[in-house]
Amino acid sequence: MKLETLHDFQEVLARIYVRNEEFSVEEILVRLDENAGYLSKSIIDDTDSERWLIRSISWLSALCNKLAIDLQRAVLVRFPNCCPYCLEANCICESTGRRPRRALSTAKKQEELQQRFELLNTSIRNGLVPTVDYVAGMLATIYSVNAAKWNLSKFLFAAKLAEERAEIIERYRRLKVAKMGPAREVILEQLQYEIADYLAWLINIWRFAHAMPEYSIQEAIASRYLTGCPYCQSEPCKCLDSTRRGIRSDAEITPASNKYKENPLEEMKAQIALILEEIRKLPAVRDEASQLASVAEKPDPQDILSKLDALNEKLKKADQLGVTATSLGKRITDLISWIGSNVSM
Ligand SMILES: [Zn+2]
Ligand SMILES: [Zn+2]
Repeated sequence: MKLETLHDFQEVLARIYVRNEEFSVEEILVRLDENAGYLSKSIIDDTDSERWLIRSISWLSALCNKLAIDLQRAVLVRFPNCCPYCLEANCICESTGRRPRRALSTAKKQEELQQRFELLNTSIRNGLVPTVDYVAGMLATIYSVNAAKWNLSKFLFAAKLAEERAEIIERYRRLKVAKMGPAREVILEQLQYEIADYLAWLINIWRFAHAMPEYSIQEAIASRYLTGCPYCQSEPCKCLDSTRRGIRSDAEITPASNKYKENPLEEMKAQIALILEEIRKLPAVRDEASQLASVAEKPDPQDILSKLDALNEKLKKADQLGVTATSLGKRITDLISWIGSNVSM
């Protein structure tokens, strides 16, 4: 397995996080936002931003996987060795107000960008590998002006990230309500531009924020994902669902806080089903178990609570039942207190 290009990266992530299918686009956008927030904080506080940058890129890639967008193509279409606004290899937008040196119609500009993309594509067909470092180098050349901006104010970069994210979200919102047909295609194309812009800012930030200039973004990405999921070292990821939803976003969130899903009644039913499954090993509480089972399908929280209490009492008395009963008792106590604070009675 190699991890050189954005294409490789997107594929590797799709293989590791097969279960990202369970995430909605909205959930992925929230993760992107969460990481961007911490990234901005690390920029402002001048602390290590590496992990937030790499995670931001991986959530961006997850978004692309979800929407069937080719991230590498999106970025090369948007930045075919030139700035999409002024068309220069070294952006001059600062002095031209985002316009090319010579006056060009929008159609003509699009045509020129398309030609440059074709040129780049020809080089790729002839053996040029558009590695992540190649893309990063290209963006560094186009936006060399950013080095001065970084020295002037890093806050601009945090603000730019927020702006680009707003644009991604807006395009996605429009895409969601668009009818099939040419209009939708245009919105999808614009969404790809915004995704490419976001990646460009992330890669640019890497250049300035990273302490070790010889440590490239490509190496950082490869060292994080080449051996599978960075937490369980497997491909596909074998992390528990709670761990996955917790840690992958922010290592400080404990798995326990993500133990229960969003719909409390459904979650209560799921937890009870698990408890009933465990209980089959304990004939001593068979009666209490069948009482619980009888109310589990159409759950009335009060009813459930009283059955759980009865079950717990019986388990406490039957302490000769050993480890299973103790751990089950603990789970039931947890569930009782969770129902108390999460399920409306
Ligand atoms: Zn420009
Ligand atoms: Zn994992």
